[in-house]
Amino acid sequence: MEGTMKGAILPGNSTVELKEFPIPQPGHGEILIKTKSSTICGSDIRCIYHEHLGKGPEGYQPGLVAGHEPCGQVVETGPGCRRFKQGDRVIIYHISGCGVCNDCRRGYMISCTSDEYRRAYGWQRDGGMAEYMLAEEKDLVLLPDELTYSDGAQVACGFGTVYEGLEKIGLCGTDAVLITGLGPVGLAAAMLCKAMGATKIIGTEAIDERIRIAKELGLFDVVLKAGPDNVRQVKDLTGGMGVEKAIDCSANHNARLTAIQAARKWGKIVFIGEGGTVAFEPSPDIIHDQKTIYGSWVTNIWRMEELVERLMRWNIHPEDLITHRFPLEKVSEAYALMASGKCGKVAVCFDEELK
Ligand SMILES: [Zn+2]
Ligand SMILES: [Zn+2]
Repeated sequence: MEGTMKGAILPGNSTVELKEFPIPQPGHGEILIKTKSSTICGSDIRCIYHEHLGKGPEGYQPGLVAGHEPCGQVVETGPGCRRFKQGDRVIIYHISGCGVCNDCRRGYMISCTSDEYRRAYGWQRDGGMAEYMLAEEKDLVLLPDELTYSDGAQVACGFGTVYEGLEKIGLCGTDAVLITGLGPVGLAAAMLCKAMGATKIIGTEAIDERIRIAKELGLFDVVLKAGPDNVRQVKDLTGGMGVEKAIDCSANHNARLTAIQAARKWGKIVFIGEGGTVAFEPSPDIIHDQKTIYGSWVTNIWRMEELVERLMRWNIHPEDLITHRFPLEKVSEAYALMASGKCGKVAVCFDEELK
């Protein structure tokens, strides 16, 4: 492929710039992908959009194409590719690792320890907010025909991250669940908890627009306005016991404390929402009630493949959580809306995904 394409960069002053880039050429083991759907993540807003705050793995290199949740179709393969071919539909696991450190060998390229070779798409190498993108073949997950490109973009980061957290706490059908923070990640948690059989799903959220979206989606049994009564409210909804499993997607210190205190004895809590802090009293809040708190960051690539298979089996579509779609020309509006928080998931779409 010859020619130029449009791509979006984030200068770090709450704006987006569209620039011309040459269409990249795939080198050895690399694949050129026609982008079809590219969703915006909370971390793009938190670490890049307003200000370039991230360090290390979250350090955005100025001038690179943004976007780490892309999904598209293979248009060209470089020499030495072993599996994927032109026409294949693919999800991009959003961090390219060295492939040979212990973390990469576990499939957790997110934690790759190589300073030289660990490069995340949309952070340290060009990402998905462009008409085409280059990816390494080893970072791709096949997207089956049953799922849309926007389903795939949702899996690339958010749904993969949530699925990993739910696996860590062993979510199962006998659980009552509390989800704190109902942005795109919290909504993804509810969709997966429901598919995995949880019969009582309670959510808490501070922003009214997000409460409305959560209620409309029909994924929750109860949606509570975030506040100081949440622990009592959750206990009232669970026969005075509290939930078996709590998932914090808010990163808010009050909501995290709610997640800990609203879990019952032997309960498991997972922190997925990034940033912020939390204060709790270890003895009454976790030790005496035998509770466990997990931290969970992204997922590994085989579990992402497993999630894709299960989404088909469960017949659910992550794209249902996308409330707004924009063409690349309106990428500025897309980021501004995501930054306002008055939305579900926001996607920049191309071709047939732009509906
Ligand atoms: Zn993300
Ligand atoms: Zn590595």
